[in-house]
Amino acid sequence: MRIPSEVDVVIIGAGASGLAAGRRLAEAKISFAILEARSRTGGRAWTVNAGGCPLDVGCGWLHSADHNPWSKIAEAEGFTVDRSDPPWGKPALEYGFSADEQRDFRKAMETFYRRLDEASEASSDQPLSDFLEPGGKWNSLLNAISTYVNGVELDRASLHDYVAYEDSGKNWRVVEGYGAAISKLGEKLPVVLNCPVKSIDHSGKRVKIETAEGNLSARAVIVTIPTRLIADQIIRFTPELREKTEAARGLPLGLADKLFLSLEDAAKFPKESRLFGKIHPLGAANYHIRPFGHPLIEAYFGGMLARELEESGEGAFGAFAIDEIAGLVGNDIKTKLKALAESHWSRDPYSRGSYSFALPGHAGARAKLAEPFDNRLFFAGEACSPEYFSTAHGAYESGVTAADQVMAALQPA
Ligand SMILES: Cc1cc2nc3c(=O)[nH]c(=O)nc-3n(C[C@H](O)[C@H](O)[C@H](O)COP(=O)(O)OP(=O)(O)OC[C@H]3O[C@@H](n4cnc5c(N)ncnc54)[C@H](O)[C@@H]3O)c2cc1C
Repeated sequence: MRIPSEVDVVIIGAGASGLAAGRRLAEAKISFAILEARSRTGGRAWTVNAGGCPLDVGCGWLHSADHNPWSKIAEAEGFTVDRSDPPWGKPALEYGFSADEQRDFRKAMETFYRRLDEASEASSDQPLSDFLEPGGKWNSLLNAISTYVNGVELDRASLHDYVAYEDSGKNWRVVEGYGAAISKLGEKLPVVLNCPVKSIDHSGKRVKIETAEGNLSARAVIVTIPTRLIADQIIRFTPELREKTEAARGLPLGLADKLFLSLEDAAKFPKESRLFGKIHPLGAANYHIRPFGHPLIEAYFGGMLARELEESGEGAFGAFAIDEIAGLVGNDIKTKLKALAESHWSRDPYSRGSYSFALPGHAGARAKLAEPFDNRLFFAGEACSPEYFSTAHGAYESGVTAADQVMAALQPA
């Protein structure tokens, strides 16, 4: 699609939130265009095909799946939703982590999370690390779990933000890929690809949007780009929106990366099992073995470990994981593993990270970021969701909220 010269609403970004906003506006027959910097839709939802399998290098789990709007949308679009339980609900394989140790760890984890819940009622905001048992045997592993959940270690994440998150406990998957299901919405919407937005001038009667592909004007704009890009001011607002930059700075993007390895003789390992990596000074990786029964291992890296491996260049994730898995299950596996696909979300210029967390003292920044400005500039994206932040369904709901706000604002008085 080519860039139009005028529309009622411009949506910036064709990720889960921008597509959800677009879907809502399309249903209401409002004229709009979605401007997307990348050559594809989906943003941080991205399914690639490698080794004959669809692989989600971005979001993979329909969290709160029984309430998650993407569960219904995916099925309505002909995708298959797998309702089996996730591997993290079961014990890990015992390589390097005995059943007794796992029981001990689980107890420490339950105690830690109980402390967070109890503290949330009474106390002022604090980093999650304040609630670790001093010198606790499992603190490093609890920190690693935080890097999967929050994208950062416990000392950087806010207690108040953490406890605001809601989760029904149901976690499902899309067999053909969560990213593919989300991107599919883009096929029916007016999306202009390869169209990075450079500036937004809201000083006049209409909002003027400057892009690398030309300019257009609108009555209202919905901005859905990730917080790191708002904080870095990659889109210039005139007049400046200092409160949005500040809010976004309180909600940085944590880092999580995935690596997929093909696995020969896969039948030696149980389907849908998992393996904990060793604890390294920068964190620990987690390995999901034979997802959907495919001959694959999906490795997950978070926080400082993911950052270090991204910075070490192409092939670093694969070399690290193959060495580590061989150290745990035996050297024979080395020749049976081959890297198929990996992500580098912090190096990606259109995300610069994986998902948002709030710095201690900044849990309120989500509401500030989501607040409409002048009833013409609206903000959506996972970071704007009050209770489902960091997720694709949080992104969806924030997009729908922003679209509803726009429609209310465009009503004749
Ligand atoms: C490794 C990883 C694992 C994850 N796992 C899960 C999971 O299991 N379950 C879950 O629910 N969530 C998960 N997430 C999070 C989920 O993917 C995101 O929260 C969600 O996709 C964010 O959607 P969004 O619309 O807010 O942002 P985005 O998807 O980032 O969309 C924003 C869009 O804006 C575009 N853009 C940026 N700059 C510009 C510009 N200047 N002009 C125009 N367009 C621009 C981007 O290209 C992008 O398409 C994971 C994420 C990662 C990275």
